[in-house]
Amino acid sequence: MPRPIKALIHTEALAHNLAQAMARVPDSRTWAVVKANAYGHGIERAFEGLRRADGFALLDLEEAQRLRALDWRGPILLLEGCFEPRDLELCSRLNLWHVVHANEQIDWLAAHKTQVPHRVFLKMNSGMNRLGFQEAALRSAWARLNALPQVDEISLMTHFSDADGTRGIAHQVAAFARATADLPGERSLANSAAVMRHAASAGIGADWVRAGIMLYGSAPDAPGGSIQSWGLKPTMTLRSRIIGTQQLQAGDTVGYGSTYTANGRMRIGIVACGYADGYPRHAPTGTPVLVNGVRCSLVGRVSMDMITVDLTNTPEAGFGSEVTLWGCDPGGSVLPIDEVATAAGTIGYELMCAMAPRVPVAVSVGG
Ligand SMILES: *Cc1c(COP(=O)(O)O)cnc(C)c1O
Repeated sequence: MPRPIKALIHTEALAHNLAQAMARVPDSRTWAVVKANAYGHGIERAFEGLRRADGFALLDLEEAQRLRALDWRGPILLLEGCFEPRDLELCSRLNLWHVVHANEQIDWLAAHKTQVPHRVFLKMNSGMNRLGFQEAALRSAWARLNALPQVDEISLMTHFSDADGTRGIAHQVAAFARATADLPGERSLANSAAVMRHAASAGIGADWVRAGIMLYGSAPDAPGGSIQSWGLKPTMTLRSRIIGTQQLQAGDTVGYGSTYTANGRMRIGIVACGYADGYPRHAPTGTPVLVNGVRCSLVGRVSMDMITVDLTNTPEAGFGSEVTLWGCDPGGSVLPIDEVATAAGTIGYELMCAMAPRVPVAVSVGG
């Protein structure tokens, strides 16, 4: 029998979360962001649930090829644009729209031989200070692109640093509006957190929103917000089983480094899941785990292949019992990935992207 760990990708939940995103910005078109192999879900596995999106946004040209191989004929946007001049050949061949955030990318376009002019998204740095042209340079970049026969439509975009936080987006929205006021073209500003928290702000939806994490059943504002409060469903379940139990007495310790000491008699379950499966090694004692659908707590250190769980809350659990590390229990209980991430001092994004290749993944078409 194979090791009992497995992951499930929930097609219906992906479709539900996408519909939630689209409903918040009914006048916009929605990019489903599928970078990082659909946030660890697998592009091919996530595609069916997300195919009602208006387009797909990603970074990797290889992932764009995989989308075209799925027969997706609609828009694909390369969020970081081209990395070297020959990437433009693939953009021409596969009809990929691409971000232009640096002068070098304009130089490459000017030298590119193509029959089909490209649709580009000119990126402004409105305060994030990662990719994009600052306000003073934006206009000349636009004029250069506009003069190129290789360029068809020019759209305008920017990215928020604090859509999920207290600083908010108003300063960046204002900078973007000021810099682009008299430039034509479609606009794209919002990520998931902006779609969720700032949908009412003027111009936020603009022409295109870029929804990522919310599609995958994680709240960008966790732990303040939660998928329950936003009406989102888990799209990835990580499940395994108890492969051993131990009866402990007061003073007994658990695992490497003996970081957990039993206060009294207690039973623990040994679960076939560890950091080599993508479970966060920094998850401390107290991190929630579902055993037979009942909330229990991790105790002791996470090992490569195993974790140890306090079974006090579910005395009938034992060898072979079903364990849900995050996502949906077969009985219908939910453990949002964000709760595990928060306990481990990280974010849902990192956990889903880090699910390890050794975990077998299946697609669950229903819930
Ligand atoms: C990843 C990414 C997004 C999506 O962000 P989420 O927080 O996952 O919604 C949007 N825009 C750009 C440019 C990105 O890189």
